[in-house]
Amino acid sequence: MLSKKEKPKEMAFAGHPEITIFSDWCKSCGICVAFCPKEVLAMDENRRLFAKAPEKCIACHMCELRCPDFAINVEEAKSLTEPGKEKS
Ligand code: SF4
Ligand code: SF4
Repeated sequence: MLSKKEKPKEMAFAGHPEITIFSDWCKSCGICVAFCPKEVLAMDENRRLFAKAPEKCIACHMCELRCPDFAINVEEAKSLTEPGKEKS
């Protein structure tokens, strides 16, 4: 079985807490959207989860804690990464 580390990252944002959504595991239940206190998360027209306002994330980890499928991960910002470049 693949570990979470081996899953491809769907989206990652730098300069603020890094939000990673594992779309293979996300069942679009919306729990994380409902529990996020800063309205960072949203569903698109296809009920695909995305971070609509990642700059508002306060890294409270409510989305991680409430997700029944371990499909979202938040890490505190450590350094800025230029768009399109992988972190080393
Ligand atoms: S860590 Fe908190 S503020 Fe950030 S997306 Fe998750 S629930 Fe929202
Ligand atoms: S709580 Fe988990 S499974 Fe549900 S929408 Fe959020 S990331 Fe996807």
